[in-house]
Amino acid sequence: MTITGHHFIAGRAVPPTGELFRATNPATSEAVEPGFGEGTALVDEALNAADAAFDGLRLAPVETRAKFLETLADEIVALGDALLERAHAETALPMARLTAERGRAVGQCKMFAALIRDGSWANLRIDRAMPERQPLPKPDVRQMLQPLGPVVIFGASNFPFAIGVVGTDTVCALAAGCPVVVKGHPAHPGTCEMLTTAVYAALQKSGLPAGAFSVLHGRSNDIGIALVKQPLTRAVGFTGSLRGGRALMDVAAARAEPIPFYGEMGSVNPVFVLPRALKERSVKMAEAYIQSVNMGVGQFCTNPALVLGIKSDELRSFVNSAADLAAKVAPATMLHRGICDAFDAGVGAWGKIPGLKLAGKSGTAPASSATQAACQIFTTDLKTFETNPSLHREVFGPCSIITECATRDELLAFARGLEGQLTAAIHGTPEDLREFAPLVRILERKVGRIIFNGFGTGIEPCPSMHHGGPYPAASHAFFTSIGTASIYRFVRPVCYQGFPDDCLPEPLQNANARAAWRLVDGQFTNIPS
Ligand code: NAP
Repeated sequence: MTITGHHFIAGRAVPPTGELFRATNPATSEAVEPGFGEGTALVDEALNAADAAFDGLRLAPVETRAKFLETLADEIVALGDALLERAHAETALPMARLTAERGRAVGQCKMFAALIRDGSWANLRIDRAMPERQPLPKPDVRQMLQPLGPVVIFGASNFPFAIGVVGTDTVCALAAGCPVVVKGHPAHPGTCEMLTTAVYAALQKSGLPAGAFSVLHGRSNDIGIALVKQPLTRAVGFTGSLRGGRALMDVAAARAEPIPFYGEMGSVNPVFVLPRALKERSVKMAEAYIQSVNMGVGQFCTNPALVLGIKSDELRSFVNSAADLAAKVAPATMLHRGICDAFDAGVGAWGKIPGLKLAGKSGTAPASSATQAACQIFTTDLKTFETNPSLHREVFGPCSIITECATRDELLAFARGLEGQLTAAIHGTPEDLREFAPLVRILERKVGRIIFNGFGTGIEPCPSMHHGGPYPAASHAFFTSIGTASIYRFVRPVCYQGFPDDCLPEPLQNANARAAWRLVDGQFTNIPS
């Protein structure tokens, strides 16, 4: 397909105006045509279209929305290799990785289709009337989750398919019945446009309103701010840096009518390497660690950027192995120049901190023209770590700091001082885990996902997944941005009291046509009430 550089509002292509920007192929530093423009002036039109489409989307039969999501999965696949090639040109992500990520995006569409078809997700509650109750009759009270309305989505540069135009945020919002306006990512706008055509094809085939979906491009902060401020916007889903997330979160909170802002941001994802495991397998652990640090050139929000261990010969051997392995890692191309420059600046600043040592670094120099980053592993002691706040925040890329604690108590005290994290990992034997049970109790207050003998990279988008965490990892610790529970960000409970059965929303009617699980008079059941 020909990529036009247009914005898309309710299926209508709007040519770019003003100064144009282009994606850059990070591997070659060459511009990728065509040019895209700033869509700030189109924000009101996109939100008006979304609002006008809300009833058409939310009141469509559930089966129509489920089929739409399955059709969307087919339409994404039908874009074929051209989609993968465009994403590869704009992100330098390897074709195998992009193929796998497309599989995840397609799987997510089908997962949400199954979720809404089943119906049980909607927290259906029924308390039947007791007209004879003394001293007062009890009314019939029923509750279910209903969609919020137009949702604005910001995807991140590192997942062009799974956290972008057709990523979890978009798909779960549409599944819930919320129209979506996406802010296209300026690092991969052509990929965004191709995916946009898939969404419109699926909406059209399903008979759903085109206004349920719009994509505006732009690389100024103005467009993002305008989208969050627009009065018809009912919620925001954001994945990206803490800086961007915090800025937009503050805009959402400062509105005359504040709206929920769900920001998934960065994290350093501490990894605790415990004594017995270090004795048993320090070299194997170092291998897995370096592999995880360099997965996707370290461009994962779950990158293990911080390792903690108790001073010992075995920890030294872990550090030496990690340093040797880091030297063998070839520099690799990052997603875009901005991320590469931020990485160089971040590790460059670390290099000036007394007490922080570079233990190992890729043996070959990175090529600047190919936007490459070199793997860098640092070591430090707890005091240096604690007194340098710049070490506590994510430097996005293939770097990590191994911090040595003097004692078990020091390690636990360190954990107590952690800020909110997406993940934490514990590497140990079962005996280690028992001995360090207090560490698990501390981490339960700090992180969204605790991993035993693994790493946070590689997230399973399943019903039990929680991808989020206390601030600053996410703006709201209760919600996940991955897995079926992500749908709960874009709905709210509505309670119906005293309604005749046939006037209730179908999921709350006595017949329970979908055999959904409902809490009826305090008991879970999926039979008619
Ligand atoms: P980013 O620079 O924050 O960009 C994300 C989106 O937000 C872009 O569309 C960006 O547009 C917009 N944006 C950023 N700052 C803004 C501001 N102040 N005002 C208005 N709009 C703003 O992040 P990225 O480089 O794409 O992605 C890398 C980051 O995402 C890393 O920090 C990584 O850890 C995080 N991430 C988190 C998760 C998670 O699930 N927690 C998953 C993947 C990635 P412009 O570029 O035009 O500003």
